[in-house]
Amino acid sequence: MATRLSTAATAALMALLATTATARDYSGREKLRAQSAQFRREVIQVASGVYVAVGYSASNVVLIQGADGSIIVDTATDPTAARAIVEAFGTRLRRPVRAIVYTHSHPDHTGGARVFAGDDAPDIYAHELFAKATPDAGRAGREGGDQFGMSLPAAQFINAGVQAEFGRVVPPTRDGYLPPTRTFGGEALSVSIAGVRVQLLYTPGETPDTIAVWLPDARVLMPGDNFFRAFPNVAPIRGSRLRNPEAWVASLDRVISLVPERVVPSHTRPVLGAAAATATLTAYRDGLKSIVEQTLDGIRKGERPDELVAHVKLPPALAAHPFLQEFYGGLEWTVRGIYADQVGWFDGNATKLLPLSEKDRATRQVALIGGVDGVIERGRAALTARDFTWAAELADYVLVNDGAHAEARRLKAAALTELAERQVNAIARNYYLTTAQFLLKDLPPR
Ligand SMILES: [Zn+2]
Repeated sequence: MATRLSTAATAALMALLATTATARDYSGREKLRAQSAQFRREVIQVASGVYVAVGYSASNVVLIQGADGSIIVDTATDPTAARAIVEAFGTRLRRPVRAIVYTHSHPDHTGGARVFAGDDAPDIYAHELFAKATPDAGRAGREGGDQFGMSLPAAQFINAGVQAEFGRVVPPTRDGYLPPTRTFGGEALSVSIAGVRVQLLYTPGETPDTIAVWLPDARVLMPGDNFFRAFPNVAPIRGSRLRNPEAWVASLDRVISLVPERVVPSHTRPVLGAAAATATLTAYRDGLKSIVEQTLDGIRKGERPDELVAHVKLPPALAAHPFLQEFYGGLEWTVRGIYADQVGWFDGNATKLLPLSEKDRATRQVALIGGVDGVIERGRAALTARDFTWAAELADYVLVNDGAHAEARRLKAAALTELAERQVNAIARNYYLTTAQFLLKDLPPR
């Protein structure tokens, strides 16, 4: 984990940034700031006897009141967050808790179960694939980056896209986790819990073990992480496999066909009202489906990833839809992820069948440009010209063979910081900024 910026390093970075251009487009950052309103702490009544606690944890917790007890859907990140939610629910949480439902296995949905269970020994429901869920491979911290921005100073951190934060205040812990006691296979499980009819529907999407929770009487849908106010994270950068986008679209089809009147996602605020629920779920499905179809079409025509990302976009009618903005998942990452999944790692260019090593290529690039000093000079010029990705790439030509080169580290950190400040995508912002912080660590002041 990268450590916080030293004061000297911050001052050095600020001085460097001050020398760059003054005209800046920070509209992405401002949109991401506005997204934080989605995590304002509130217990929202969704329907008679159904409440959702938003903003108390990385994920929402839903309380369903029954005749002789309660049902809890998802359990927050950790016991500290779960206790805050129990307090916020107050007397609305009628003991005993008869059942807990996990929409999927991610830690921010399963880490507070012990607190909600108390001494009530509830049944704990999940899909049978829950047990087969594999943790992400742990690439999140490589190169000093981190999509959640856990080590960023408060002044730089905005949010984590679909959550206020994950693991920043309370380190992730599994102390509050309880394993499922009632799993099901196949497409659905219908049960009656505390007098409430509940249907659990197998809806793979963000994870292969995702279930949607459907209350047919109140017409409330809880789609887990298959739907929220941000483009879905189909191809995560953190070390997961592609999340099957065709299965995801089919799962959205399935929940749309229920005609819900209230949709309560596990992140961001609920959508209330039949018309809004159907329109929003449909737009979400159509947006994802269009990206998948355009990408597969292009692949069939023989297009390479760089060609695909140049033209695969949301349809104009959906481009500005508030639920399809790239606060969390990225369109370009989705396209590249689908390509790799469908076609493999090779982009079709024979030169890249057995390419030069990156060290070899960097040595030759540096020589072409006129030596290390020339590369740094051009990198600074690129920074001034607001050509930030190129500036970072020039720094890489030096860093590949000399990772300790102070000026190259400063150059790359400045370029990544500028890129971060223009991002609407929280994952990219947090990863850029924590990498920059890592690059400036232990550098002497200039
Ligand atoms: Zn989640």
